[in-house]
Amino acid sequence: MQTRTRFAPSPTGYMHLGNLRTALYTYLYARRTGGKFILRIEDTDQEREVPGAIDVIYNSLNIAGLSHDEGPDVGGPVGPYIQSQRKDSYLPYAKQLVESGHAYYCFCTKERLDAAREAAEKKGETFRYDKHCLHLSKEEIQEKLDAGVPWVIRQNIPTEGKAGFDDVIYGRVEVDCDTLDDNVLIKADGLPTYNFANVIDDHLMGITHVMRGNEYLSSAPKYNLLYEALGWTPPTYVHLTPVMVDAPVLGPDGRPELDAEGNPVTAKRKMSKRKGDPSFEDLLAQGYLTEAVINYLVLLGWSPRGEREFYTLKELEEVFDLEGLSKSPSVFDIQKLNWFNAEYIRKLSPERYLELTTPWMAKALDPEKFDFKRLAELLQGRTEVFNQLPGMIAFLAEQPEYSNDLYVNKKQKSTPESAKAALQAALPLLEGIGEWTEAELHDRVMEAIPGLGMKNGQFLWPLRIAISGQQSTPGGAFEIAYLLGREETLRRLKAAIEKL
Ligand code: GLU
Repeated sequence: MQTRTRFAPSPTGYMHLGNLRTALYTYLYARRTGGKFILRIEDTDQEREVPGAIDVIYNSLNIAGLSHDEGPDVGGPVGPYIQSQRKDSYLPYAKQLVESGHAYYCFCTKERLDAAREAAEKKGETFRYDKHCLHLSKEEIQEKLDAGVPWVIRQNIPTEGKAGFDDVIYGRVEVDCDTLDDNVLIKADGLPTYNFANVIDDHLMGITHVMRGNEYLSSAPKYNLLYEALGWTPPTYVHLTPVMVDAPVLGPDGRPELDAEGNPVTAKRKMSKRKGDPSFEDLLAQGYLTEAVINYLVLLGWSPRGEREFYTLKELEEVFDLEGLSKSPSVFDIQKLNWFNAEYIRKLSPERYLELTTPWMAKALDPEKFDFKRLAELLQGRTEVFNQLPGMIAFLAEQPEYSNDLYVNKKQKSTPESAKAALQAALPLLEGIGEWTEAELHDRVMEAIPGLGMKNGQFLWPLRIAISGQQSTPGGAFEIAYLLGREETLRRLKAAIEKL
């Protein structure tokens, strides 16, 4: 049988990294097994609807390279692929379940339910619907329907016994039926709940493997009861362990809590956009490369055989398997992602690097005034994330305030005094340079240093600080002098001497 997997996001307006990882695994499994990858939009919760949110899904999948074989925009044999457009497909199945006794009409008012919920909470119990309407007679039901009393349809969960299912990651999952609630299948607005729609759609769409977050693990036994009641074979379930972050714990005042030593207390929690964790779009906007994010994400919860860490999407399509999926939660580590990103940045061609970073460099520097190509060459090997670039090069546009203490460097045998001597010697030397190129700067300075009775470091270390205002820079003194140009270099040099 051909594999059919689906990614079934709700349009929230952003792509949660955990969701993107689900999409990725779902896509890869379909590709690896020569199957079909289906996109289904789950928008039955109309209250949560965010305008433009479906486009965010298309865009994110497109950028990530996860092309779907069937979906709202590309069509397919089992459409429509947007749940709100399928709204008429669900009620007949719900009625079938009512007929067979696996579901029932419920006319309870919001007031009655709220009161019952409150009473349960007061007793410290989880609210479960008390099957009040299960005992209505056929006639009573018909009367209410005819009178236009608002209704929902609820699943009739057995009061005893067990419900369960088999999961690829979690194995056999079983719960006592009396712990399950008679969930609503069809809401008062006539639309199905997620709990119902996912079962009907997965079946009608011929889905063979359901991969999704483990937040659905506890509901899946109920879904299996529905499959059984409808006489359908359930799909293979793969509930993925969550993506966590190790985040600072906030105190009641909203500030990070500190331990006895004054270090922030951290705890693992699920990643959450609302708590400020980045979405896929956020990462791209910050200047992460798609390929790096994908590569990092795939390994966050899945291990290939062997030690290899770098994979293109194409390569993953060949090797991804369910056996490598992790059984324990994974922790999103931004440092590790930065490392991946830096590796991918290093592998870019110089031309591509320049193209991608020009807008970032232009945030700090005027492209008319600075040699971006040269800057790009100097920066490529030290870039982790593009959004760090403006900060790394801002000193070229405006020299930061700096302290003469920066000149102190034991290894270079540099002190403020030796720095002053070096800079005083450097000034006429640089003023005398005709052609302001890195090569000229290098050759003239290097041939002069021995005559000054100084070590290279003793001369070059202060020179770099004098013209940059900082100890660490992309490129050394010659590169910076070249980038700044003659006039600005000499101006900064004179000011530095005066300051010493
Ligand atoms: N619409 C659900 C969500 O966005 C999908 C759950 C599923 O894949 O079954 O979380």
